[in-house]
Amino acid sequence: MYLNITNRCTNDCEFCIRQQAPGVGGYNLWLEEEPTTKEIIEAIGDPTGYKEVVFCGYGEPLMRLQVVIDVAKHLKKTYPNVPVRVNTNGQANMIYGEDVTPQLEGNIDVISISLNAENAEKYSEICHPEYGEDAFFSILEFTRKCKSHIPRVIVTVVDIPGIDIAKCKRLAEELGVEFRLRSLDKR
Ligand code: SF4
Repeated sequence: MYLNITNRCTNDCEFCIRQQAPGVGGYNLWLEEEPTTKEIIEAIGDPTGYKEVVFCGYGEPLMRLQVVIDVAKHLKKTYPNVPVRVNTNGQANMIYGEDVTPQLEGNIDVISISLNAENAEKYSEICHPEYGEDAFFSILEFTRKCKSHIPRVIVTVVDIPGIDIAKCKRLAEELGVEFRLRSLDKR
């Protein structure tokens, strides 16, 4: 089950589906208004039939950190057997100016962080982060910190031309996290 809770993001990636269409699979994903915690919980209902519940795009879910935590807390308390994942651009510590990863502990089972490039220069070229090249280094630091608080940490790279996949994979190894290559149409 995918939760689309915001269209805001600190990146402007060239491959972002926000650039290409108002939605995927026939769903319009542009939010007129961001849903409240209560509305999200009501919309989820009983998720036990789903493999996992995923906070993901359109947009960067951790722009709404407190909402993610509150919804995830509810899910862990009510449906402890349903895994909760966050798909993120990994810039939350920059957005909030502090290390927010301890707040994810016990609430999030899997975090999937978009690394997208093997170095800061390339990352900036592709993702156009508000924070410039610092964003990339912050993502690396965020990834390391996540390992202390979240059972499963994955970095992902989109298979677009010009990205050195082997180097990205090595970076993931150095960070001590899983690596996943994803195709353009999957997040
Ligand atoms: S980080 Fe994700 S939501 Fe944000 S611009 Fe890039 S692809 Fe789009």
